Amino acid sequence: SGARVRRAHNKRLPQYLERGVDVKFSDVAGLGKIRLELEEIVKFFTHGEMYRRRGVKIPGGILLCGPPGVGKTLLAKAVAGEAGVNFFSISASQFVEIYVGVGASRVRALYQEARENAPSVVFIDELDAVGRERGLIKGSGGQERDATLNQLLVSLDGFEGRGEVITIASTNRPDILDPALVRPGRFDRKIYIPKPGLIGRIEILKVHARKKPMAEDVDYMAIASMTDGMVGAELANIVEVAAINMMRDGRTEITTDDLLQAAQMEERGMLDRKERSLDTWKQVAINEAAMAVVAVNYPDLKNIEFVTIAPRAGRELGYVRMKMDPIKFKEGMLTRQSLLDHITVQLAPRAADELWFGEDQLSTIWAETADNARSAARTYVLGGLSEKHHGLSNFWVADRLNDLDTEALQIVNMCYERAKEILRKNRKLMDAVVDELVQKKSLTKQEFCSLVELHGSIKPMPPSI
Ligand code: ADP
Repeated sequence: SGARVRRAHNKRLPQYLERGVDVKFSDVAGLGKIRLELEEIVKFFTHGEMYRRRGVKIPGGILLCGPPGVGKTLLAKAVAGEAGVNFFSISASQFVEIYVGVGASRVRALYQEARENAPSVVFIDELDAVGRERGLIKGSGGQERDATLNQLLVSLDGFEGRGEVITIASTNRPDILDPALVRPGRFDRKIYIPKPGLIGRIEILKVHARKKPMAEDVDYMAIASMTDGMVGAELANIVEVAAINMMRDGRTEITTDDLLQAAQMEERGMLDRKERSLDTWKQVAINEAAMAVVAVNYPDLKNIEFVTIAPRAGRELGYVRMKMDPIKFKEGMLTRQSLLDHITVQLAPRAADELWFGEDQLSTIWAETADNARSAARTYVLGGLSEKHHGLSNFWVADRLNDLDTEALQIVNMCYERAKEILRKNRKLMDAVVDELVQKKSLTKQEFCSLVELHGSIKPMPPSI
């Protein structure tokens, strides 16, 4: 047949084909409803004829949007795996070459291969590297990119046999893509892959645990609770590192503690194994316990995910992981009250140092958190959140800057008193948390919460400013 003749002449081996891709949807966890959308794409391959007969248009390209490591590449492979078709992939940064014309010819070659080996999925990673809106890039590099982008547009358009080759591209920046790329018939379908939630993280950990010798009582919830904000790639890595821990110790099963250590490693780097005196452990424990104990009182900070005094090489000695509402904290939507609460929590280590060791024995272990408190207080005043400076009229007048500093200082002092008060009233809880930290070095969310339940947390009246 014609196809065989063409193959015979084409001695060149496919360069972009990934052999042995055997990923299934069951390998991708925590997808929820997104899975249905992807199952539909599989149907474009398996039931293509049915779609065509009924006049339903098959999309030329699907855009998977989301942050790095959430599993976009894995999903594209799973689509190919489930449909039983070939998988071709390239990273768009490979298109962007110094030599004019190289990018465009790579795109051409990629699609030629994909068509010769159809049905197939073409996966383009980091589409934004080449698909940035034209005109945004100046200079000769920009011209080269234009040629590549044009070729990509031509390739996307150029299928008679729509449905035989489907392009899936990933990007974290759908907003900067050239409008020509997202026009109907091209990348006209967008699927957002968000970071996994708590349940998603449990599922992802379990998928990666499938092929590993896990202890029967592994507490996936504990690990998922302390990894808020992490993506699939990081969670997969945690399971791998936990397996290495197990091997290193000559054990045969991966335990919760292996995973816990690995999660800490993922977040904070290598464990610092230097010997430390009991006094040092205790001092760090007081410092961290104080933050956690003060934080549980506040609505935006009370979600303590993990408390530890296990030091990390080149980084902080201890650490309290608080789950914070990302919109409020990262995108600057803090209310006045939660900013004050934040300042109070940051001052807790300093307050504890004074209460436990006395004015004369103060160390500088709290220097960093005290700095955070000071700068947050300045934000508070400079942002016009305080009573005196309500409203922004007259705001930047130079001679008022001194006033502003004075007021920031007042706020720091007020929050400091408040931190001390909370710590005094929660002495029992503090002692319990410190004891357990010194003993175990780390407390999971559950362990910390049961101490709070046992010893109570007494919240003082909010201050009036
Ligand atoms: P992206 O393409 O979004 O940057 P990848 O697909 O390359 O992310 O993810 C890298 C690795 O992380 C995957 O090969 C897989 O091992 C793991 N991973 C990421 N997301 C998931 C998920 N949802 N389920 C299971 N594993 C995942």
